[in-house]
Amino acid sequence: MTKQRINCMVTKCQHHSHDNACRLNTIQIENCRDQGQDDHESLCASYEESR
Ligand code: SF4
Repeated sequence: MTKQRINCMVTKCQHHSHDNACRLNTIQIENCRDQGQDDHESLCASYEESR
């Protein structure tokens, strides 16, 4: 399996690294609860807020 790089700009997530990459090998994406609004269709369900 090829290694995947996930670029992410969400700096408040504890999986975010300083080079704007996600440290996880896989992430889960879900629909937003309020989908249908502009630019608000999907959400990273692997997000965990930094402490
Ligand atoms: S888990 Fe999701 S929100 Fe967090 S750094 Fe990875 S891709 Fe971004």
